[in-house]
This record gives sequence, structure tokens and C-alpha cells, in this order.
Amino acid sequence: MEKKDIKSMPLEQLAGELAARGEKAFRAKQMYDWMHVKLARGFGEMTNLPKAFRENCREDFWYTALRAVQIQESVTDGTKKFLFGLADGNLVESVWMKYKHGNSVCVSSQVGCRMGCVFCASTLDGLVRNLTPAEMLDQVYAISLLTGERVSNVVVMGTGEPLDNYDNLLTFLRMLTDENGLHISQRNVTVSTCGLVPQMRRLAGEGLQITLALSLHGATDEKRKKLMPIANRYAIRELMDACGYYFERTGRRITFEYSLVGGVNDSDQDAALLSALARPLNSHVNLIPVNPIKERDFVQSEAARVRSFQLKLEKNGINGTIRREMGRDIDGACGQLRRKTMEHLKNQTSQNG
Ligand code: SAH
Repeated sequence: MEKKDIKSMPLEQLAGELAARGEKAFRAKQMYDWMHVKLARGFGEMTNLPKAFRENCREDFWYTALRAVQIQESVTDGTKKFLFGLADGNLVESVWMKYKHGNSVCVSSQVGCRMGCVFCASTLDGLVRNLTPAEMLDQVYAISLLTGERVSNVVVMGTGEPLDNYDNLLTFLRMLTDENGLHISQRNVTVSTCGLVPQMRRLAGEGLQITLALSLHGATDEKRKKLMPIANRYAIRELMDACGYYFERTGRRITFEYSLVGGVNDSDQDAALLSALARPLNSHVNLIPVNPIKERDFVQSEAARVRSFQLKLEKNGINGTIRREMGRDIDGACGQLRRKTMEHLKNQTSQNG
């Protein structure tokens, strides 16, 4: 019989599993506390639980604990990038960023991605598999243990399209913000999507107070289609309706993400069109100068162009922040570190990303 994944179980489910095995009711809470508060790396650490109980658990359950394969630290801003090994040999990357307002972890939601955005390194080899709730949680837990610091913010902006792994994402979000676990404030959690309209609408009805970020990258369908294949499926009009609905249901404003690609989407006219989309939703815009990947020949917009784009937004009454490029010296762009390591493993020559 295949072992059940104990660390992906919300407390009620765990209680049901243990009750079915004839365990005392309070064991579930104890076990949950070891996994999601004390962040134990295995049953062996759960010293106040009877040995026989732990042995039974080891036989019945699978315990997720990611292994740090590589850690890179940026010399410029202290950002740390972690490459984790999963039990099946796959690799995922996560990033730890230190901000004035607290520490933030950027979590991956899939191994690879099938969305195909042309500037993104994570999607070059397609989707390998979804991550389990425990594999998403453990990126936060492992980093918290390795840095010895509290994590206050979580952004699901690593490799993968989180809304393409909807059920596992939801379990992850509920467990991450559960008062019986790390209890990270829902308002400090952001999920970023390339714009899967049906799932955005579904998310609006989940009763969560998280921030939804929409990767727009183009202010017309035509431009968006050049950068993001998903634009062939959903038109900007439908996306904006879904954003309006999300705000209506949750009271949470949508953030737009806009990666500036030199000569492609960075003109003043692009800024004007983007403003027109952001205004009715009162959206904040995150401007990300594109991080060039060696497989594609996109270039970053000139610094002056980025600034002028931001000013144009400002003149139109839209708040735009230029995302600090954290960890540029450590393969900061999504999927670059994992890709580089895999290439290295395949014994190919790898260049610095
Ligand atoms: N699938 C989600 C999360 C992806 S990563 C989404 O599409 O939103 C988070 C952000 O980084 C997205 O806006 C993504 O488009 C952007 N991104 C990916 N690669 C990039 C690169 N090389 N340069 C700049 N932004 C990039």
C-alpha cells in the first residue's frame, strides 16, 4: 500500500486518519504541532510521542523533508537562493529576501511549468509535475530553519503556475495561514498568476484574504500574445472582469506585474494603455525589468526608459514600483538556478545566467 503524505494533511484530516488507527484524540494536535510549528524534519525528532506510535506512523505515512542541495547568497543584498531536492530526485528553487518590513520567501508551486511565457526560464522544458502541499510548505519551513529567522511574508512567485495546481495550492494556503501552524497572516501572502480566468474566479470565493497578483506584461491582447501563450486563451477584457470580481468578493486589490522588455512593451503608449487598465481596479503596478535568460534574446529596457515608463504611470494617477532586482548576481530569475544545475548534471557546459 502506498504511504499517505502526512505533512500535506490539514489538522482535521490528520485527526481522522489517526482516529481511524485507534490513536487518542490529542495525538493529532501534538503531531500537527511537531510538523507545522516545531518544524520537525522527521518522526525521530518527536520526542514526547511514544516510540511505538512513531514507529507505526513511519510505516503508514510518508514524511516530506526537502534537502538543501545548494544555497547561494547574494553579496549585494543578502538575498538567498535555495535549491531543494525532492524525494523523487526533482529539484525546486526558493528565494529568501530580507526587507525592512520582514522576511519574505518566494515559493515554487510546480516542477517546471507548462504556460510557456517566452522570457521565463522555468517553462523551457515544460511541466514535470505539481508540488504537493507539503512540498510547498517545506520550502518555507526549511528556509526558516536554515536561516534561523522568522518568515513573515510568502509569495507564490517561484517556478510554476500556482492556479494550474489549484487544489494543492489551496491546501497549502490554508495550512500556511492556519492558527495551528506557522499562522502567517493571509494579508502577507501573495499568489501570482499568468491569468487563468476560471481559477481566479474560483479563488475569489474561497474566503481568503490573500493578495492576487496578475502577470500582465502587455496592455493589449496583441502584445500579450507575443509574450504569453495564455493570452490566446483569455482576452484582457475577461481578465479585467475576473480581477473586478476578485476585488468585489474579497475586498482585496489586485496587483499587476509588468516585466519590461526592451523595445517590446516599454513605450509611453504602452504605459498609457496599462494605466487605463489599472485605473478602474485601483491596481498597483510592479514593474520588473526583464531578467534576460541565455536561451532567449530579450533585453532589459534602459534604466531611463524604465523611469520614464513609471513617470508616465504616475502622471496617469497609477502607482508603479520598480521591483528592486534582488539577487541578480545569484541567478535571480525564476528557474535559472534549477536549470543551470540540471544542465550541469547532464554534463553540459553551463554559462552563468
Ligand atoms: N506563473 C506565475 C508565477 C511566475 S513567476 C505567474 O505567471 O505570475 C513571477 C513573475 O516573474 C511573473 O510575473 C513572471 O512573468 C515573471 N518573470 C518570469 N521570468 C522573468 C524574467 N526572466 N524576467 C522578468 N520577469 C520574469
